[in-house]
Amino acid sequence: MKKYILSIDQGTTSSRAILFDYDGHICSIAQREIECLFPHRGWVELDALGIWVSVIDVVNEVLVKANVTMDSVDSIGITNQRETSIVWDKKTGLPVYHAVVWQSRQSADICDRYEDKKELIHKKTGLLINPYFSASKIRFILDHVPNGQKRAENGELLFGTVDSWLIYKMTKGKVHATDATNASRTMLYNINTNKWDDELLKLFNVPKAMLPKVCPSSYQYGVASFFSNKVKICGVAGDQQAALFGQTCFEEGESKNTYGTGCFMLLNTGSQPVLSKNGLLTTVAWQIGDKVTYALEGSVFVGGAVVQWLRDQMRMLHDAAESEKFAAEVKDTNGMYFVPAFVGLGTPYWDDDARGSAFGITRGTTKNHFIRACLEAIAYQCKDVFEIMKEETSGSLKNLKVDGGATKNKLLMQFQSDILKTDIMLPTCLETTALGVAYLAGLASGFYKDLAEIKSIHSYQAIFKPQMSTEVINQKYSGWLKAVEATRKFK
Ligand code: ADP
Repeated sequence: MKKYILSIDQGTTSSRAILFDYDGHICSIAQREIECLFPHRGWVELDALGIWVSVIDVVNEVLVKANVTMDSVDSIGITNQRETSIVWDKKTGLPVYHAVVWQSRQSADICDRYEDKKELIHKKTGLLINPYFSASKIRFILDHVPNGQKRAENGELLFGTVDSWLIYKMTKGKVHATDATNASRTMLYNINTNKWDDELLKLFNVPKAMLPKVCPSSYQYGVASFFSNKVKICGVAGDQQAALFGQTCFEEGESKNTYGTGCFMLLNTGSQPVLSKNGLLTTVAWQIGDKVTYALEGSVFVGGAVVQWLRDQMRMLHDAAESEKFAAEVKDTNGMYFVPAFVGLGTPYWDDDARGSAFGITRGTTKNHFIRACLEAIAYQCKDVFEIMKEETSGSLKNLKVDGGATKNKLLMQFQSDILKTDIMLPTCLETTALGVAYLAGLASGFYKDLAEIKSIHSYQAIFKPQMSTEVINQKYSGWLKAVEATRKFK
C-alpha cells in the first residue's frame, strides 16, 4: 500500500493538514480558518479547543480528499505557530484560559520587570526580553485565572505551546511533551544545557511540574489514538525551524528566508549557539537524537505586506501579482527609496517608533517607480538581516533558499539575488514548513533513511543568479542605508 506522511501545520490564522508522498509531493491539502480574538487593544488570543477541533477537521478532510484512510499514513508531523501559550487542567484536559498568541502584547508590563535581567536571559535562552515569548504569557495566565499559581504548584495545571497541546489531545492525555525548537522559544529553556532552566523558572515563578518533557524534533512521541487508526507522531518543530529543515539547510552556513506578510530569515550555525550583538535571536534549529543544531534568526516586519498596502490602501494594484508587471515597466526606481516602517523596523534596527517614509521623489517619479521602490525595499530589508548574519558568522553564509507568497515575484527574487550577490534557490515544493516536519517525522519512523536520502529527493524549480556589479550594488545599498537613517531621525 502506498504510504504518506501527514503534516499538521497549525498557524495563527488557519490550521492545515497536508499529505506528502515519499518524493515530498503534495497529494492533498485541507485548510480551516480560525478566528482570532482581540479582547483588548494589543491582545491577541485564540480558542484553544477551537484549535484542536480545527485540526480534527482538516485531518479528516485531507484523508477524504486523497481517498485514503489512516492506514496509509506512515507517521504524523506537527509544526506550529511558535510561542503561543496554553495552560490546561490536567484532570479535565480543558484549557483554563484562551491560547495567548505570540503577537499579543498583554504581558508587556510583566516583561518590563525583567529589564535588568536581559543579559542573563539572552545568554541562557538566545532571546531578547519581549512579550512574544512564552514565559511572560504563562505568568499572565497564572495571574489571571482563579488560584492559578496555587493550582500550578499543586500539579493541577499543565503548560504547552501549540505542538504540546495537540500532542496531548491526540494521545488522549498520555503524552505531555514538546520538541527542543518550541522549548527554545519559551524563555525558560537553556539552549546551552538543553534543559528547562531552574534559575529562569524561579525568576518567572513557573512551577516545573507544569512543563512538558522536551524531546528531539525527530522522535517517536507516542501514538495518536484519537483518530480512527493508531499512527505515531514522529516529528515536531516550530514553523520557522521546520521551514529551515524543509529547505534542507542541513549544513552550517545554509539559510532560508520566508517572504510572507513579514520575512523570517534563519541561518544554520551548526552545533554551537552563536550569540548576536545586533539583535538576531539564537534558537534551536532542530534536535535529532542527542545532536542539537542551532540557528540565528532575523525578522523583517513588513515584507509582502507592503504589496498588500499598495493594493488595499494606495489602490495602485488590483492584485499582488500586478506589482511585478508595473515594476518591470521601469529599469530602476529613478533614485527613489521607500522605507516601509509601518510598524517600526525589525532586525537589526529594533526601532518600534520609526514610521514609513519615501525619499528622492521628483516630478519624473511615476507609479511604476513607486511600486518598484516598494518591492526593492523588501529586498533591502532582507539584505540588512543577511549582512548582519554574514558578519556574525565570519562570512560562512553560503546561499539563500526562499519560500513564501512573495517568491512568486520573479523580479523581486532577481533583485534579491543581485543585491545580495548570492544565489537564490526556489524549491519545487513551496510548502516548506509542512514538508520540513514531514521529513523530520519520516526520519524517525524509518520512511527516510538519513539526511542524504532526503537531499536526493529535494528539488528546485528556479535558481536566481546575481547579475549586478559590485559598484552598482554599493551605490544602491548606500542610498537605502541613508533612507533608513533619515527615517529613524524623523520622529
Ligand atoms: P503569510 O503566511 O504571512 O500569510 P504568504 O506566504 O501566504 O504569507 O504570502 C502572502 C504575502 O505575499 C502577501 O503579503 C502578499 O502581498 C505577498 N505576495 C503574494 N503574491 C505576490 C507577488 N506576486 N508579488 C509580491 N508579493 C506577493
